[in-house]
Amino acid sequence: MKVVVANWKMNPATPREAVKLARAEDKLKVIVAPPFPFLEDVGRVLKRATLGAQDAFWISRGAYTGEVSVQQLKRLRVSYVIVGHSERRAQGETNGMVRKKVEAVHAAGLTPILCVGEPWPVRKKGFAAAKRYVARQLHAALSGTRKKLIVAYEPVWAIGSGKADSPAEAAEMADFIKELLIVSYRSSVKVLYGGSVTPRNARAFLKARALDGALVGGASLRPRDFTKIISAINVANR
Ligand code: PEP
Repeated sequence: MKVVVANWKMNPATPREAVKLARAEDKLKVIVAPPFPFLEDVGRVLKRATLGAQDAFWISRGAYTGEVSVQQLKRLRVSYVIVGHSERRAQGETNGMVRKKVEAVHAAGLTPILCVGEPWPVRKKGFAAAKRYVARQLHAALSGTRKKLIVAYEPVWAIGSGKADSPAEAAEMADFIKELLIVSYRSSVKVLYGGSVTPRNARAFLKARALDGALVGGASLRPRDFTKIISAINVANR
């Protein structure tokens, strides 16, 4: 079954707005990832959708100002944790940190949504260069685990830019990722596409056999748009 992740990033402004948005997005096969301060309120509202977090730290407690542990998230009934989003990597998150986060999420019995994707200077060199970049990110983040994992292929240049990748290339990358993980880790994963998914292009991404869903940022803040993307998931799941 295909899934769609709503990554609200640092939105909305108030708990009230968060609860309203959560009610509008509370559908099966949806994972809602609000900012930390709204997890509890949103978790209380969701009946069909599943709760996700946007990040987590790899140590369970202690003197780590500003960090949030996987155990703290688990207590709020979080099931999925986005790890290695390019917006976090841009803040200095390294492959080594991403790996520790994936391990911590797995150790707590939750599912990581591991984000990978090449920046524009790499893609400019061609699709083969993009595949090499993504392969390096995957090997750096994974330690041979066969635990449940979702990979989100998110070309950095497509995130929030209005310039989505083509569904054909996103599907080719998804096949490449699946093959690599089977061969290297005997691990079978779902691969999502993320990067400027809108109601206009969602159907094309979601009907691609290799793609198991979408990670949606901007459009997940617009309930009308997001509802259309959910309809595209429902069509693809028939
Ligand atoms: C994202 O947040 O990972 C994302 C893909 O954002 P957008 O849909 O706005 O490009």
